[in-house]
Amino acid sequence: MHTTRVLVVEDEPAIVELVTYSLREAGWGVTSVGSTAAAWDSISHGKPDLLLLDWMLPDQSGLRLLSRLRADRDFRDIPVIMLTAKSMEEDKLAGLDTGADDYVTKPFSPRELLARSRALLRRKSPHLAESVLRAGAVALDPASCTVTIDGNGVEIGNAEYKLLKFLLAHRERVFSRAQLLDKVWGDHAVIEERTVDVHVLRLRKALKGAEGLVRTVRSVGYMLSEK
Ligand code: CA
Repeated sequence: MHTTRVLVVEDEPAIVELVTYSLREAGWGVTSVGSTAAAWDSISHGKPDLLLLDWMLPDQSGLRLLSRLRADRDFRDIPVIMLTAKSMEEDKLAGLDTGADDYVTKPFSPRELLARSRALLRRKSPHLAESVLRAGAVALDPASCTVTIDGNGVEIGNAEYKLLKFLLAHRERVFSRAQLLDKVWGDHAVIEERTVDVHVLRLRKALKGAEGLVRTVRSVGYMLSEK
């Protein structure tokens, strides 16, 4: 399961803490660094899905790092949001000219930052920001890889998460165990058909209270149904 990875380049500890806390709440993986040099080092070791980049940094400006990224074949497509205390129109334009996808002006609310981050990912990496799948009280958020029942987080294993995601995307349709193995686990799976039963059992356990959504269709297989 891929977790959305965000790199925060910011030298003000209070902002780092606030941003890190709210992005982690959303289920995203967050790394933070305090200089452009450390940012380049981090990006070279693993490309983030999203970069939140402060303008004023101790070694170089965030804008310099941005133009370096945009000139690099491997890194030019990283979605970037500039965090800036500058509210001057020409500075915003300079940021956008250099290739920032969006910017937020300090002080910003964590909710605004999260909303803008999601919107940007939806534009640039739809697979990371797919919309929430719902059935009854159950909601699965592919952006954060989390499942909730009536808004409360649910502990769910990787296999059960994938199974639930597939069933939610194909509700009211019956799938045989072999089909589920093929569609959910793919070619790499070396598991027996009855393993599907084990995962369905665990999924129902995880969905306590809403387990009735996952129906057994006798001698055929399983389906997710709200009816
Ligand atoms: Ca700063």
